Amino acid sequence: MIVGAGFAGYRTARALSRLTRGRAEITLLNPTDYFLYLPLLPQVAAGILEPRRVTVSLSGTLPRVRLVLGEADGIDLDARTVHYEGPEGDPGTLAYDRLVLAAGSVNKLLPVPGVAEHAHGFRGLPEALYLRDHVTRQVELAAAEDDPKSCAARCTFVVVGAGYTGTEVAAQGQLFTDAQVRRHPLRSGMRPRWLLLDIADRVLPELDRRLSRTAGKVLRERGVDVRTGTSVKEATPGGVLLSDGEFVDTRTLVWCVGVRPDPLAESLGLPLERGRLLVDPYLSVPGRPELFACGDAAAVPDLENPGGYTPMTAQHAWRQGSTAARNVAASLGIGESRPYRHRDLGFVVDLGGVKAAANPLGIPLSGVAAGAVTRGYHLAAMPGNRVRVAADWLLDAVLPRQAVQLGLVRSWSVPLDTASPELARVPGRPDKHVEEPMHEPAKSQPGGEPARNQAGGEPARNQPGGEPAKNQPGGEPAKNQPGGEPAKNQPGGEPAKNQPVGPGRTEPPGPVRQQDLPSAADSGTSAEGDS
Ligand SMILES: Cc1cc2nc3c(=O)[nH]c(=O)nc-3n(C[C@H](O)[C@H](O)[C@H](O)COP(=O)(O)OP(=O)(O)OC[C@H]3O[C@@H](n4cnc5c(N)ncnc54)[C@H](O)[C@@H]3O)c2cc1C
Repeated sequence: MIVGAGFAGYRTARALSRLTRGRAEITLLNPTDYFLYLPLLPQVAAGILEPRRVTVSLSGTLPRVRLVLGEADGIDLDARTVHYEGPEGDPGTLAYDRLVLAAGSVNKLLPVPGVAEHAHGFRGLPEALYLRDHVTRQVELAAAEDDPKSCAARCTFVVVGAGYTGTEVAAQGQLFTDAQVRRHPLRSGMRPRWLLLDIADRVLPELDRRLSRTAGKVLRERGVDVRTGTSVKEATPGGVLLSDGEFVDTRTLVWCVGVRPDPLAESLGLPLERGRLLVDPYLSVPGRPELFACGDAAAVPDLENPGGYTPMTAQHAWRQGSTAARNVAASLGIGESRPYRHRDLGFVVDLGGVKAAANPLGIPLSGVAAGAVTRGYHLAAMPGNRVRVAADWLLDAVLPRQAVQLGLVRSWSVPLDTASPELARVPGRPDKHVEEPMHEPAKSQPGGEPARNQAGGEPARNQPGGEPAKNQPGGEPAKNQPGGEPAKNQPGGEPAKNQPVGPGRTEPPGPVRQQDLPSAADSGTSAEGDS
């Protein structure tokens, strides 16, 4: 049984199914029916790729694997069972002989006041769709504004964390909004402004310095306001207070400070390394020969860098999936096990247009060459849907981008503090937000370490139901938003009508956390953890 169908879990399922050829029953438990190719998510937010392009159907590509839709919420190691909740709230239990935990990671938070309420993360498809709509809407609303101050606030977009996620979001975002304004200029003649903040002294702080230089140059030439050595002290409905004392009026705060392991790893009560389940080089949990873990959720010894653990990247997760499959098969008497060993093959960072920063096999590239390598790499790395992705790229090269917002994902349905970033929150189902220890100082944590200092999961007070606080980044109040109760007899958890929500109402659709008051040391917002 495999929990999680991301890079690690999908590869495990695929490789194991080939290795065992029907001699083992393979079950894959995942909340969605698709594998998500996360590295192309910034292109979904920027309107280059349609969301289904970055998904790969699980049942369509894993014919010999039994897919169970659901989210594991408890693992009984002694009874060898996994308890889960299905997509319609129905509980279930699955028994296993071998278990591979590959549940990935979730947004990392820092205890900065207002961030949980006013920022949005970038870890799943719903958040990317939300951001695309939200940004489009802000520019459209700005275009109708008479007040230059409001117009400027709507057209100012703040991205925190200059790891590859934040860097790509800001780089693509500036191109996206510039294109929108070119076709429909703002009345004030203003240009949308993207700010990219990081506490570190350079963008892409965890990657090769040459990649940082290339990315920093492209961003600055493009007009992105890159602020290194800067973090956010407080987020408010009207903007963000920076660590240097400047207050930036904005309606958009994108939180890309990194990720931390899925809380399922911690729930096992086994030894952890910064929230990741400790495994040996064979990806097996010491003392539990039937339990394997890989990807972001696992602390895998880095044999190329003794004493360290492999970073949380797609590259490692994908290759660890293959090793996990091989070692599970070996434990069943098929083939031989081997330790996980993998050298860094370089990194690619898509900066939008034809620009990218890449260092395949350690060779630094910039400009069009890097752009071509980056796109080629993604096409080769995707386990499916390549033709559709390439077709979208082609269309984007010759046609103007579609700047329309469908408004299907609302602000309240993509809270920053959630254990399920892959699912948009739906009415009537409490969100699984993450409980974490309180009051420990945040550290700059390279390599995907867990965030510390999280507030303890109290519901926020005075949050309007169903939509963000008034003037909160997140846009307009939705009509008929749910107030916690699902509508009766409505398919798919449709919002009930006339629920007590909207501006001035006080019940959110589920718990929203109140922030702790941080110390100055807590507000570090380096983009660690996402490389
Ligand atoms: C926007 C973005 C861009 C990125 N770009 C790059 C890049 O360019 N290069 C790179 O190397 N890395 C990149 N990464 C990091 C990379 O995507 C991750 O390191 C990689 O996805 C980790 O693989 P995984 O299988 O451990 O987790 P994931 O790919 O996240 O998969 C985890 C799976 O587990 C499922 N799951 C979670 N909880 C449960 C549960 N309780 N029960 C059942 N299933 C569950 C999830 O739905 C998901 O399907 C990026 C990450 C993001 C967010």
